Amino acid sequence: MESRGDQVAEGPREKCGVVGVTLEDRAAARPLYYALYALQHRGQESAGIVTHDGFQQHSHVERGLVGDAFEEGDLESLTGSTGIGHVRYPTAGSLDESCAQPFSVSFKSGSLGLSHNGNLVNAAEVREELAELGHAFTSDGDTEVIAHDLARNLLEEDLVRAVKHTMGRIHGSYSLTIMDDDTVLGVRDPKGNRPLCIGKLEDGYVLASESAAIDTLDGELVRDVRPGELVVLNPDGTGFDSYDLIEEENSAHCFFEHVYFARPDSVIDDELVYEVRRNLGRKLWEEAGVETDVVMPVPDSGRAFASGYADAAGETTADGEPRGQDDDGVEFAEGLMKNRYVGRTFIMPTQDERERAVRLKLNPIKSTVEGKSVTIIDDSIVRGTTSNQLVKLVKDAGAEEVHMRIGAPQIIAPCYFGIDMATREELIAADKTTEEIRQHIDADSLSYLSIDAVADALDSSRADLCLGCVTGEYPFDVDGEATDRDVQRPVVGSDATPADD
Ligand code: SF4
Repeated sequence: MESRGDQVAEGPREKCGVVGVTLEDRAAARPLYYALYALQHRGQESAGIVTHDGFQQHSHVERGLVGDAFEEGDLESLTGSTGIGHVRYPTAGSLDESCAQPFSVSFKSGSLGLSHNGNLVNAAEVREELAELGHAFTSDGDTEVIAHDLARNLLEEDLVRAVKHTMGRIHGSYSLTIMDDDTVLGVRDPKGNRPLCIGKLEDGYVLASESAAIDTLDGELVRDVRPGELVVLNPDGTGFDSYDLIEEENSAHCFFEHVYFARPDSVIDDELVYEVRRNLGRKLWEEAGVETDVVMPVPDSGRAFASGYADAAGETTADGEPRGQDDDGVEFAEGLMKNRYVGRTFIMPTQDERERAVRLKLNPIKSTVEGKSVTIIDDSIVRGTTSNQLVKLVKDAGAEEVHMRIGAPQIIAPCYFGIDMATREELIAADKTTEEIRQHIDADSLSYLSIDAVADALDSSRADLCLGCVTGEYPFDVDGEATDRDVQRPVVGSDATPADD
């Protein structure tokens, strides 16, 4: 949990969730609506659904949470057995309705709808070129750029070639669900930065940012969409075709999805997110365990980490020695209670009131911490404001020592690929050492997890992960930033863009 400007927000924010559904003989609107509910944590600013009834597109996009954005009549008017949906927190583009999604556009030979999770880093170049060719844009978002580019290619190429052509021109992070008339497609960028998976329903198929959305529809996870893959769902809901359009040697999965953004009950890259987080907690104990009376999570973000940490602490001492029979290790306790009725964000005009925000949200159980040495486990420290207040809260409740352990490495740089992280100036670890941060938050000790331990817990090599926000080196070519691999933006407008193989 972190303070942001005059609001109090929950740390870094995922920007979007996408879904697409084709059914044999049933309206797609309601399953899409339920799936969006399951993806609500990925975006709270707006929600939208576009369906196709075989003749025309129907669209309903509204600001607000899924439950507020749709009324019964809206769902009934969204006819057709194929459709896509989107929940959004603004990434590129302004915070207004013209950027809400799915984005829909009609062009000479049909209609397109697009839902995008991620962020392009060369949208301005592609937009400029398309504008010169006469395309008029209604928003400043990058999704409209993809839609126009694809619509243009579709005038001359079949669907698969058109998608490949566009993929060769855009650079950055994207997991897309697309409607080309009544055909639903899923596309993941060649580095697979953001998640996207395929699920099978009793009477159809579904594409979704996270498998929790498939579970909500009583479906079965088939697999992740591969990096660079195009998946085309049959409009009659009977199956799907797959095309590996661009293959790269290494992927760049966002490690933060596992640490923070994704629901713990989602499976990404064959790993249950909850288990990954427990594993990260175990590694945190192995790397930086401290013997205290109590271990407690920051709810809800630190819970899985703390449970793994406490489990590992029950097996070995902080020095790595096996515990003796009469040594129970460290007690795990839910010592911080969360007020669930405080909204996700609320206005706190003055610094004084902002500091009260943590008190409104969290309350320590005195008897759990009084006179004890306590370890607090969380998943990240972004700006440091909240951690500082949290330590004070627990000390005020009578804790003798407060140690902080963080289940991810220090965040030292911003994210350009669809996560609202913070600017470099706001990130406490951008220019402070761990000891300086410890002093700032007034903890008795502070440790983060190493990058290697993260890669290990994700069963991945560092080369296949995006680690941009913790290394300052990115897997995409971002203006003014370093890269961690040999990567170049496509030369937009050049004949070299791959259109025909
Ligand atoms: S920079 Fe960080 S948050 Fe952004 S995609 Fe990479 S790992 Fe994820």
